[in-house]
Amino acid sequence: MRPRPSRLVLLGHPVGHSKSPRMHGAALAHAGIDLRYDALDVAPDDFDAAINALVSANVAGNVTIPFKERAAARCDWLSSAAQRAGAANTFWSVEGELHGDNTDIGGFAAAAAALPGGVPTPARVALLGAGGAAAAVLAAVERWPDCTVRIHARTLERATRLAARFPGVARAEPGLEEALADANLVVNATPAGLGDDGELPAPVELLAPGAAVIDLAYRAGETAWVRTARARGHPAMDGLPMLVEQGALAWRRWLGVEPDRGVMRRALL
Ligand code: NDP
Repeated sequence: MRPRPSRLVLLGHPVGHSKSPRMHGAALAHAGIDLRYDALDVAPDDFDAAINALVSANVAGNVTIPFKERAAARCDWLSSAAQRAGAANTFWSVEGELHGDNTDIGGFAAAAAALPGGVPTPARVALLGAGGAAAAVLAAVERWPDCTVRIHARTLERATRLAARFPGVARAEPGLEEALADANLVVNATPAGLGDDGELPAPVELLAPGAAVIDLAYRAGETAWVRTARARGHPAMDGLPMLVEQGALAWRRWLGVEPDRGVMRRALL
């Protein structure tokens, strides 16, 4: 048995917006585990020194924007899922070595399975955004039988590069309308809609009738995109179920136990 981590942290820049400390803090208290989960805002230039110090101190945790790719590159051992996504969101220390996983992948898959009506089969996915979260979505959906994905991102070159890593499943689509036209599952993997500016990742009128919607963004009272899509009859969910699932999967890596997902969910709401 590995020794329990001395502390849990979230490394990011910025991290102030994250609900992970609240979610994990509540679940740790509920489980009677005497550990803290703290958000650490680390300047990009300080990332390497910070992660080295944490590994030496047997600290485990998560990494978020903009460090997931750098964390994967720094790991001494990386799960095959994290290798596929090219990003790690979960780390822990084993005898002074940094180990990493990507629980966003399993988190997305579990959340999608809980969509009202389930995942459409075969899934024709429109994926909005081409960053680390989009890569995790691709690593999850490439396992679905006969799934196809059109990636639409505001930086076409980034979408093209991401699609090239998932040949046979994904292709970049410059036009938003074309990406959405035939999709029976639309996934927002951009931060659009997180703020109060009324921005939506895509006009809901462009969605095909009955297309399911998953917004990886989350906020109190759900995102406007999810609420608008549901009002028009689309099965829709925001990023909260994925956040809970990726966090629960991280517990297995850090602590070898399952958290109470209900406690986590309630802490977020
Ligand atoms: P990245 O910064 O790696 O990628 C973001 C992508 O969105 C890029 O393609 C970027 O384009 C694009 N983008 C950024 N802003 C806008 C905008 N205003 N309109 C359209 N496109 C935009 O971020 P991540 O992939 O790590 O995260 C994306 C989202 O997913 C975030 O909202 C994050 O909070 C959420 N997330 C949720 C999780 C959950 O558990 N629910 C887990 C992981 C992520 P460009 O390249 O041009 O900048």
